[in-house]
Amino acid sequence: MENQYQIPSELKSAVDGKCPRCRTGDMFAAPLLSFRSKKMHVKCPACDLKFEKEPGYFYVAMYISYAMSVAELVASCVITYWLTGNMESPWLYVIVALAATLIFAPFNNRYSRVILLYWMTPMFKFNPKIYQQVKEGTLKA
Ligand SMILES: [Zn+2]
Repeated sequence: MENQYQIPSELKSAVDGKCPRCRTGDMFAAPLLSFRSKKMHVKCPACDLKFEKEPGYFYVAMYISYAMSVAELVASCVITYWLTGNMESPWLYVIVALAATLIFAPFNNRYSRVILLYWMTPMFKFNPKIYQQVKEGTLKA
């Protein structure tokens, strides 16, 4: 039988926070813009993949999150300079940097883990067979 399912693209699945192996189950228990957005499923609800493959694995995501924060701080300060032309007051940049850190924190937390699991964990690869089994409901746990 031909595969009649439209497999979602890798980028779309990553942006939606889907499991890297089956691209069906949610990695996170709540949407990005909610107070519980940091809550993550231990295992994929669809294919049972354990997301934290070894204890402390998500510490690696901190480094990714750090790199993302630095990029966002530099970008927001450059944009502030571009919009205001301010070269006198350092407080403007301190306030902008603090606000950017707070605003982007949930985003960084989520997408640092998504980047880690999608593109920096070779053992978590998309498996079309598991995707099809999940869609057909024939996956044996
Ligand atoms: Zn899965």
